[in-house]
Amino acid sequence: MPEYHVECMRCGARYERDDVVYTCECGGLLDVKYEYSTVDAASITRGGELGVWKYRALLPFEDGILKLKGEGGTLAPVTTREGNTPLYKCERLAEKLGMRELYVKHEGLNPTGSFKDRGMTVGVTKALELKMTRVACASTGNTSASLAIYAARAGIPCFVLLPKGKVALGKVAQAVMHGARVVAIDGNFDDALRIVRELCEELRIYLLNSVNPYRLEGQKTIAFEIAEQLGWRAPDRVVLPVGNAGNISAIYKGFCELRELGILGEVPKMTGIQADGARPIVDAIKEGRAEITPEPQPETIASAIRIGNPVNAPKALRAIRESGGVAEAVTDAEIIEAQKELARLEGIGVEPASAASLAGLKKLLELGVVEKDETVVCVTTGHLLKDPEAVLKACEPPVEVEADADAVRKLLIAHGL
Ligand SMILES: *Cc1c(COP(=O)(O)O)cnc(C)c1O
Ligand SMILES: [Zn+2]
Repeated sequence: MPEYHVECMRCGARYERDDVVYTCECGGLLDVKYEYSTVDAASITRGGELGVWKYRALLPFEDGILKLKGEGGTLAPVTTREGNTPLYKCERLAEKLGMRELYVKHEGLNPTGSFKDRGMTVGVTKALELKMTRVACASTGNTSASLAIYAARAGIPCFVLLPKGKVALGKVAQAVMHGARVVAIDGNFDDALRIVRELCEELRIYLLNSVNPYRLEGQKTIAFEIAEQLGWRAPDRVVLPVGNAGNISAIYKGFCELRELGILGEVPKMTGIQADGARPIVDAIKEGRAEITPEPQPETIASAIRIGNPVNAPKALRAIRESGGVAEAVTDAEIIEAQKELARLEGIGVEPASAASLAGLKKLLELGVVEKDETVVCVTTGHLLKDPEAVLKACEPPVEVEADADAVRKLLIAHGL
């Protein structure tokens, strides 16, 4: 297992592995750094079933921890078989967009229906290693659903803070069913995160929002799987929705590590998509600013990215700029159109935030920013069933007729079937 430590991206301060810290004393974000000479690189590219723990040689745990209990280890990973999601080749969509090679990495097929599971399997295992026996998060929904199941598997209590009335139905259902203690505040996600950060420090509860650098270590395995599924090749570009901006930072880090180990020669252009009503990162990129200006009233149908003050903004700006990527914003109407295209042309059912990736790609193709002969991977972050209400608003309801073959036949003919 690798040697690693945690380091501030702003001032370089180092923290030890058993410190419970989320940000540096200077306020900077923390990165997990590995001593690459101690990484078993061959185990990364060795065949075998995909999944987060396949890449344990690049996960922040010591040897003994990851051996199963009874095999000389002290702790087993808290897992529900996360990762190993399909990378679909989308020929029909590619043809429509005039592209050569388009893929969708469907993270909605994780155990709870979003990529958050990759972060939580690592984050909750880390909580147990650090002897933190309670976990918490603020959430637009998916983080809470995911944390709830990992806490249930670990047998520890989980506390969740949500913006009242702003969370998609499927996500709340998961959190409450799996036994999270769910509190809804009269405020937005950014308020919820501020409050939960304060309470976690004060009450020594382990915070599992994406400001926690260990969570991002799990999420970076999206990059490892994309590269492996393409035959250890990097795509030219990865396009994904950006909310609190952890995932784009994590995937970028994953690709950089593969380059560091000599497994890949290049890193894809990281391309972040936000909704028009919540676009602080897009504006900072377009205006060449070093810092974002938070949006006090974020608004969009894509509730998973309805975030005005992304906590990982410095990491996301770094990922986009260093990789030669871009950022773009899309309207709710563009998001819904892309959601339908994924569903109807490719059979890929995603929640609105996830469709922002395709909507953004389409816009960037039109603008000529993305070339049609690039190999592009869109990451669809969450499953269609997460937000049934958004779907019912976007689609025609079923037609109703009496239970009579003639009546149904007439309808079929009217529909041209
Ligand atoms: C969490 C989430 C996002 C945003 O990811 P960040 O890491 O916060 O940028 C996008 N889509 C879905 C479905 C999510 O659950
Ligand atoms: Zn610092």
